[in-house]
Amino acid sequence: MSETVDVVVAGGGHNSLVTAAYLAKAGLEVLVLDARCEAGGGAASEELLLPGYLIDSCSTGHTLIQPNPVLRDDELGLKADYGLRYISPDPVAHVVFPDGESFTHWLDLDRTCDELARFSRRDADSYRRLLREYDEIKPAVSAYRFNPVGYAPALRDAVSQIWQRRLLLSAYDVVGYEYEDPHVRAYMLWQAFQTLQPVDAYGTGLNAISILAGRQAQSWILPVGGSGELPRALVRCIEEHGGRVVTERLVTGLVLENGRCTGVETADGERWLARRAVLSSIHVKALVEMAPAEAWGEEFLYGIDTFDPGISVAAQYYVTTEPPRFRAHDGEREAVSAGLAAWPDDLVQAVRDTKAGRVQDGGWLLCGTPTLVDPSRAPHGHHTLKVLSPQPWAPGRNAAVIRHEDL
Ligand SMILES: Cc1cc2nc3c(=O)[nH]c(=O)nc-3n(C[C@H](O)[C@H](O)[C@H](O)COP(=O)(O)OP(=O)(O)OC[C@H]3O[C@@H](n4cnc5c(N)ncnc54)[C@H](O)[C@@H]3O)c2cc1C
Repeated sequence: MSETVDVVVAGGGHNSLVTAAYLAKAGLEVLVLDARCEAGGGAASEELLLPGYLIDSCSTGHTLIQPNPVLRDDELGLKADYGLRYISPDPVAHVVFPDGESFTHWLDLDRTCDELARFSRRDADSYRRLLREYDEIKPAVSAYRFNPVGYAPALRDAVSQIWQRRLLLSAYDVVGYEYEDPHVRAYMLWQAFQTLQPVDAYGTGLNAISILAGRQAQSWILPVGGSGELPRALVRCIEEHGGRVVTERLVTGLVLENGRCTGVETADGERWLARRAVLSSIHVKALVEMAPAEAWGEEFLYGIDTFDPGISVAAQYYVTTEPPRFRAHDGEREAVSAGLAAWPDDLVQAVRDTKAGRVQDGGWLLCGTPTLVDPSRAPHGHHTLKVLSPQPWAPGRNAAVIRHEDL
C-alpha cells in the first residue's frame, strides 16, 4: 500500500517536528513518521521507572533552543495556543569542586558576580565583560544557528577578529585565558562541557561563553510537565494545520526515482510518497544506510564518515523521596542543575579516557532534579533525578534499567 502527501518527514524528533509545523502552517500536507510510540525523540518525558514519575530520558534543559524564533518570538504559537510553558530555575546551577569548595550560579548577575568574587574579583569582572561582548554577537550567532546552511552568513564572516579567534580556540583555551582562579575555570568548563564536546577540541571556544550567557539569561530553563511537552505542543500545532504524526512506523529505506528521494518505506512494507520533499532527522549515520552509497555521493559520505558526534555519557535515573543536597559554603544547596566540577586538566583527561574506553569514576557529574521547581512531574513531595557522567559506550549493548522499588 502507498500514500502520497506533499512532504514526508522521516523521524519525529523535535527538530523535524519544528520543520513539519512550519510547513503545515504554510499550507503543505505534511506526514511525520516516527519509530517510537510517541514523537519527540530526545525531547521525551516518560514513566521510565514508576507510574506517576515523569523522567526526561534525554534532554531536560531547553536553554539552547530559546533564541530560536520558534520560542523567542513564539512564531508557531506553541506558548500562546498549544499550552507550552517554561520555568527558569534559580539558582541556575550549583557545583562542588574536588577540594570541597562550591559555587552557586544565580539568575541575578550581581549575585553571581559576588559568588565569583569569592574566588577572584578579576574573574567576576571578566565574566561580566564576556557576557557584554557576547550580547553584541548574539544576533549573528542566532542567525547562523537557526537558519538552514547558506541562508545566513557564516559566523566567522559576521563577527570581529577577536571572536573569530575565539571560535577557533578550544573552550579550555578561552577559559584559561579569561579566568585566573581554578574554581572559576572548573565551573566555566563544567558548563562548556554540557554539549558533550571535548573542552580541549579546537572550535569549542564559543561554548565557554555562549552556554554561560544562555544560562545567565534564562537559566537551565525547563518546560512545565517535562521535556516531552515541547514535541507535544508541536504535534498539536501540526495536527491543527492538517498534518499527521504517525508513530510506531520504522523507516527502513528511502524511495529513489531518477536520483531523487521521493518517499520512504517502513518496516510494515508500506510506502509513503512525497510530491514536494522528504526530510528527516533520523541520525545521519543511520540515514545514509537507507539508500545506496552512489545516491549520496562521495563528498557527502566523507563528511558523514568523519563526523564525530562527541562524548558518550551514561544516564542514571532515580525516583526519590528527597532531592539531592550539595555542600555549599554557607550550608547546603538544592538546585535543579547541580553536580561535580572537575579541575580543567582532569576533565580533559577524563574525556580522553572516556574516548579510549576507560570507565570513569567521579570527575564531571551533572545531576538534574526538575521536580524542585516542577512538582507536576512526580507525586507530592517526591522527586525525579537524572545523573549524567561521561562513560565509554559499547555499541550494540542495550541500556540497563535498574528499578529501585523501595522508595
Ligand atoms: C542523556 C541525554 C541528555 C541530554 N540533555 C540535553 C539537555 O538537557 N538539553 C539539550 O538541549 N539537549 C540535550 N540532549 C540532546 C538532545 O536530546 C538532542 O540534541 C535532541 O533531542 C536531538 O533532536 P533531533 O530532533 O535532532 O533528533 P532526535 O531527538 O534524535 O529524533 C530523531 C527521531 O527519529 C526517530 N527515528 C530514528 N530512526 C528512525 C527510523 N528508522 N524510523 C522512524 N523514526 C526513526 C526517533 O524515534 C526520534 O524520534 C541530551 C541528549 C541525551 C542523550
